Amino acid sequence: MAMEQNEETAMPHVVFIPYAMTSHITPLVHIARLFALHGLKVTIIAPQHNALLFQSSVDRDRLFSGSNITVRTIQFPSEEVGLPVGIENFIASPSMEIVGKVHYGFILLQKIMEQLIREINPNCIVSDMFFPWTVDLAEEMQIPRFSFQPATSIHQCAWVFIREFKPYKNVASDAEKFLIPGLPLDIKMKVSEIEDFLKEETEYTKTVDDVLQAEVRSHGIIHNTCSELEPGVAQLYEKARGVKGWHIGPLALFINKYEAEISSKQISNSNINSCSDPWKGYGDCFNWLENQQPNSVLFVCFGSMIRFSDDQLKEMAVGLKAANCPTIWVFREQDKNEVDEKDEHSDWSRNGFKEMIGEKMFIIQGWAPQQLILKHQAIGGFLTHCGWNSILESLAVGVPLITWPLFSDNFYTDKLLETLGLAIGIGADVWNPGFILSCPPLSGEKIELAVKRLMNNSEESRKIRENAKLMAKKLKSATEEGGSSHSQLIGLIEEIKRCAFKKSS
Ligand code: UDP
Repeated sequence: MAMEQNEETAMPHVVFIPYAMTSHITPLVHIARLFALHGLKVTIIAPQHNALLFQSSVDRDRLFSGSNITVRTIQFPSEEVGLPVGIENFIASPSMEIVGKVHYGFILLQKIMEQLIREINPNCIVSDMFFPWTVDLAEEMQIPRFSFQPATSIHQCAWVFIREFKPYKNVASDAEKFLIPGLPLDIKMKVSEIEDFLKEETEYTKTVDDVLQAEVRSHGIIHNTCSELEPGVAQLYEKARGVKGWHIGPLALFINKYEAEISSKQISNSNINSCSDPWKGYGDCFNWLENQQPNSVLFVCFGSMIRFSDDQLKEMAVGLKAANCPTIWVFREQDKNEVDEKDEHSDWSRNGFKEMIGEKMFIIQGWAPQQLILKHQAIGGFLTHCGWNSILESLAVGVPLITWPLFSDNFYTDKLLETLGLAIGIGADVWNPGFILSCPPLSGEKIELAVKRLMNNSEESRKIRENAKLMAKKLKSATEEGGSSHSQLIGLIEEIKRCAFKKSS
């Protein structure tokens, strides 16, 4: 995939603008790297500390694959928004107040980013969906703008169709389900499971409107999904909205394959500025996994943001212990009001959790090497909140799921997985407006039951396991030459070249 030097000058230059969430940044940077590996010139614009998340990968691509990819860092307005230096991402945000400040910081950065993009003078902008202003700039510069949509197409359809047709008004009670209209799959929801801003005007309604309006004025939408996962849905959205969708997921499969090729060439990257290797220091976890039977371990992790209440954590400890199955539980600190407050009680040993956990549990406090853990042969199930990246990572390696949807688009993904026979639902049915949860705790009994249903080798669990393995094969094929996502990726790159050459001719 390395680029020929003489092609470089003729290649379109694409600017990427990631937003403030790890689950948005990682896949968007994957696209940037893939474009560069296919010969396009790429610049990623990001505040300094967010850039640290991917700088080493970009450096490595430049060095070992000749990619023409650079990162242009900008200064995050920490002082203006009242945040300590380094907090530029929701992952470092233990409260909604801090999330608001990070978001405000990105609003303040708009002018600076606009100026930088004008100076760079690219042929194309690929922007996170949460920067709708990039569509105005692209129109002014007469270049195509693509919106990056990190979640499912079903979620996008829901945003549009639920708001338009209001199917939730036709149910008599909260317990009754309604069908999302128009979808090729039967996705049934309870009123309590859909976002509040779809049912009424909230402070988020304008954001959603802006995102959707910018989308239809874009040259296209890039999705980290594929027809193997959402048959017919993407086409439906395209038709309903009149804007072309490019479905090139799971992006991590492209990148993992490329990285495996690099490693197989035994290239040492020890001289690269590796900002922080997030997988360092987890040897104990992998030693522990090595001693477990294949498919026997449950992995429990709730993405980059979710914070549970202590009551919920206790129910979880009780349920997981009672399920009596080897478990890796990624435990995150509770909500804290002040970002710099180092709460001495906020570690695992507080409130007696340490005494509550079972002997079969391995606890990771903080950030886990999720992708690597999921790949381990001992992992037999994943208890997840249904973050789309987590789902793709799990299905890419054929690990079946227990779904505990909580916020954002989680409930649509939960229903999709149920429809595809890839998961056992835990029984959560209340959508939370933020990642600090307001729903009543789920009981330990429900958690225990769901874990036992997936991990006990019953006919039901064998079927789900089989489906997950089959999906892994389909996803792999989708990203190989001739596969649906691979063809779309190549088509997208050709489309960008076509637009750039049309403008310059
Ligand atoms: N992640 C990780 N270790 C953790 C928690 C999360 O590597 O301890 C990664 C996970 O692999 C995924 C991302 O963070 O790539 C979470 O994204 P997702 O869309 O699943 O959920 P969100 O964070 O948006 O709720």
